[in-house]
Amino acid sequence: MFEHLKEQPKDKILALMQAYKDDPRDTKIDLGVGVYKNPQGVTPIMRAVKEAERRWWDEETTKAYTGLAGDPAFTDAMINLVLGNSVARDQFSAVATPGGTGAVRQAFELVRMANPEARVFVSDPTWPNHLSILKYLGMETIMYRYFDNASGGVNFGGMMEDLGQVRKGDVVLLHGCCHNPTGANLNMVEFKAVIDLMNEKGAIPMIDIAYQGFGDGLDEDAAATRAVAAGCPETLIAASCSKNFGIYRERTGLLMAVAQDKSMQAIAQGNLAYLNRQNYSFPPDHGARLVGIVLNDDDLRADWKAELEEVRKGMLSLRTQLADELQKLSGSDRFGFLAQHRGMFSRLGASPDQVEKLRADHGIYMVGDSRLNIAGLNKDTVPVLAKAVVEVGI
Ligand code: PMP
Repeated sequence: MFEHLKEQPKDKILALMQAYKDDPRDTKIDLGVGVYKNPQGVTPIMRAVKEAERRWWDEETTKAYTGLAGDPAFTDAMINLVLGNSVARDQFSAVATPGGTGAVRQAFELVRMANPEARVFVSDPTWPNHLSILKYLGMETIMYRYFDNASGGVNFGGMMEDLGQVRKGDVVLLHGCCHNPTGANLNMVEFKAVIDLMNEKGAIPMIDIAYQGFGDGLDEDAAATRAVAAGCPETLIAASCSKNFGIYRERTGLLMAVAQDKSMQAIAQGNLAYLNRQNYSFPPDHGARLVGIVLNDDDLRADWKAELEEVRKGMLSLRTQLADELQKLSGSDRFGFLAQHRGMFSRLGASPDQVEKLRADHGIYMVGDSRLNIAGLNKDTVPVLAKAVVEVGI
């Protein structure tokens, strides 16, 4: 049987991580992998998460199964964090999932179950896993124009023109904040225009929000998601706790389905739980439990927020430093977009050859599409990157 299997393409980022590890130069800089790193290059366990873990070690008395939807203290706290009071509690259903990836995967599966004809519109470019999961599920995928390489911003005119082709029942996937891989985001006026267009066409928005708190602040980063959930008849939201709680390997995420028609709540909830059951039965509990503890305790929540703010501001200041440094060295403002972008990533707009030259000549590792992880820098390596960027002729 196994002889019928085809070799799967290698994951480019994992291959890049390996190449970085094997590089003997001690001046090498890793801007590839998508995890937050502090200025010392460490992905830390957040203080509040560590404390929650300590408390939970004392309090936990059983490892018996949780409910199919996960721990309600987690789901309720996360609903609150993402949606605030933009929609009433009886308008939505939610389940815990293994990471944001689990939520994305099951959101697509829910779409396919409800409407096998639905086409999914995704930004060009988008997080590559969106595309590979959609392909795996056999769902028709259409890319809409998004990133404008020349300006480093969003090609909003092109995006709206392409979304003009959506049909009733199609799904439009939007990044809630901190677009991965480009770092370029819609403003709220543009988001409202997208909401109007989707409503006019009868399309269903799906939001992937994986970096809440990494851009402009927890509420600011959720503003678009809240506007969509409040402004569209139906919305799917996939949220990840990997980045903002720093619990990548715990696999903690949440899938929400919001409907203005409250009679849909029970049926949506039943279907979300059904999908959990078919895929893995019960969602992982440990990370979700820690998030629930942190968010439901005033002191831990305040400390988590403070640490997240430090992380966010640190990345913003690296952005400004990099944009300034490049301005100085290149004598042009064309890298100003780096300071406008939000989140962990920016697309530099370099060609694959230039990306390869950065790696070979300067030991600077970034993804082939020239996505760089801002958190891979610190104030000493920013000038090194800026000099290399100019030398390579980007
Ligand atoms: N969506 C996007 C856009 C992401 O960048 C990520 C993380 N790379 C995820 C979802 C899911 O992350 P995880 O499964 O680790 O929670």
